[in-house]
Amino acid sequence: MTEVAEQFTEERSGEVTRISHWIGGQRVEGTSGRNGPVYNPATGEQSGAVDFASVEEVDAAVQAARRAFESWRTVSLSRRTETFFRIRELFHDHSEDLARLLTLEHGKVLSDAKGEVARGLEVIEYCCGIPELLKGSYSEQASTGIDVYSIRQPHGVVAGITPFNFPAMVPMWMWAPAIACGNTFVLKPSEKDPSASMLTAELLKEAGLPDGVFNVVHGDKVAVDAVLEHPEIAAVSFVGSTPIARYVYETGTKAGKRVQALGGAKNHMIVLPDADIEMAADAAVSAGYGSAGERCMAVSMLVAVGHAADDLVGAIQERLPKVKVGDGMKPDSEMGPLVTREHRDKVASYIEKGAAEGAKVVTDGRETAPDNGGFFLGVTLLDEVTPEMDVYKDEIFGPVLGITRVDTYEEAVRLVNENPYGNGVAIFTRDGGVARQFQFEVNAGMVGVNVPIPVPVAYYSFGGWKNSLFGDLHVYGPEGIQFYTQGKVVTSRWPDPATSKVDLGFPQTR
Ligand code: NAD
Repeated sequence: MTEVAEQFTEERSGEVTRISHWIGGQRVEGTSGRNGPVYNPATGEQSGAVDFASVEEVDAAVQAARRAFESWRTVSLSRRTETFFRIRELFHDHSEDLARLLTLEHGKVLSDAKGEVARGLEVIEYCCGIPELLKGSYSEQASTGIDVYSIRQPHGVVAGITPFNFPAMVPMWMWAPAIACGNTFVLKPSEKDPSASMLTAELLKEAGLPDGVFNVVHGDKVAVDAVLEHPEIAAVSFVGSTPIARYVYETGTKAGKRVQALGGAKNHMIVLPDADIEMAADAAVSAGYGSAGERCMAVSMLVAVGHAADDLVGAIQERLPKVKVGDGMKPDSEMGPLVTREHRDKVASYIEKGAAEGAKVVTDGRETAPDNGGFFLGVTLLDEVTPEMDVYKDEIFGPVLGITRVDTYEEAVRLVNENPYGNGVAIFTRDGGVARQFQFEVNAGMVGVNVPIPVPVAYYSFGGWKNSLFGDLHVYGPEGIQFYTQGKVVTSRWPDPATSKVDLGFPQTR
């Protein structure tokens, strides 16, 4: 293990660790007197206490970022690229350390945590091409002797507010393109699993990123509001639940900021009668229960069309007893605990609620959860779920998979299109024509054809529709670069003094 990571894991194995802010290239202990508990969800024990920032502490981070912006924005593209290649190498070398931290605080199994880091790394790799990504355009002789060209420039200080479920990758979606574009960054990570951001800060410093370019302030609503209202923060990226996304978008834009706010989801996977049922069952179990269902792209509703239903339920039911639920650090665990006790209890309450609403509880995760004090819940399957039930309407965000039965493809698509969320959606079929029709008419931002979790690769952009995204631009990829820059168009003439004259008319091009 590396020196940087040892510091974290050693601390973790002892008493409750204090997790502080990172401002201007160093750890800064909080002075607000407020903090929050961090748990190891696999044991239920408190492992950390994270400082909650005051308005003044958020301001200190913004001031450090503002000072750093003055020189960071002048750093040449070739130097920025060099720095990003070093960042890429360091994060690659420390990916296991980062993954361990994720498992210790979030609970996801180590192999899944490594997957999270790997997908985040792809965004860093994309940013290594920043000179190409920031290329403008040039029109020579737009009018006689006049050239016009466009450039993209950074905003200044920008901020990211992130959720608990991807404590390393979602921040990477934001800080990597923001910094590559020449901005400086203030991150407010989830208070439930904050340590990955601190390791990120240390690695960025080790990679040679100047102090103040990347800062971390921990906290709750106080810190979020301080970010949203700070006059020197120009743009805010948010990922989290829909009610908070809407709040962040409305408050941030009212304060004059550019905001992209990604919200929650209720992702449907449609299985048509002609689908390969065994393959669809494998995909449903993987996408429904991976990371204990705590993914914004998790499949939470299966829509079984026609005679697919009975076979699909049978095939899933067969697979469920084999899913190994346990401590994410153990190599044979396939699904870890949920993030907190409260969240586990809330998810479990939906099983009761589903039964009361008339759904059929095929497999009850409360009966199979390991009972060791950790925040575990076993895999749950609810059949005969209908759209008016809360288990259908709400984003449960846990290992509870619902099945709705419909007669036709048209009914299945209508369900998806009428849903207030529009993040990810998938269709399983062997019919290319129907799949083509589906991608054409479905109202969602990310579509999978025989792919249950269609998270776009780093050179496309990630984002949903409807209540899954507030704002115009998706995150990372080309739209991420657009979000973190503003366009400028220069119209230029180097006139021959001999031809100069006064002309009060509106500038003409012909
Ligand atoms: P959350 O909305 O509770 O928290 C997200 C962030 O907002 C955190 O940093 C938190 O501290 C802050 N926050 C929480 N309550 C707040 C309040 N009242 N005022 C101001 N700030 C507040 O979300 P979460 O539980 O951490 O994450 C899970 C949610 O995130 C799910 O809904 C999931 O679908 C969503 N998510 C969406 C995407 C996506 O790309 N669309 C990706 C990951 C997660």
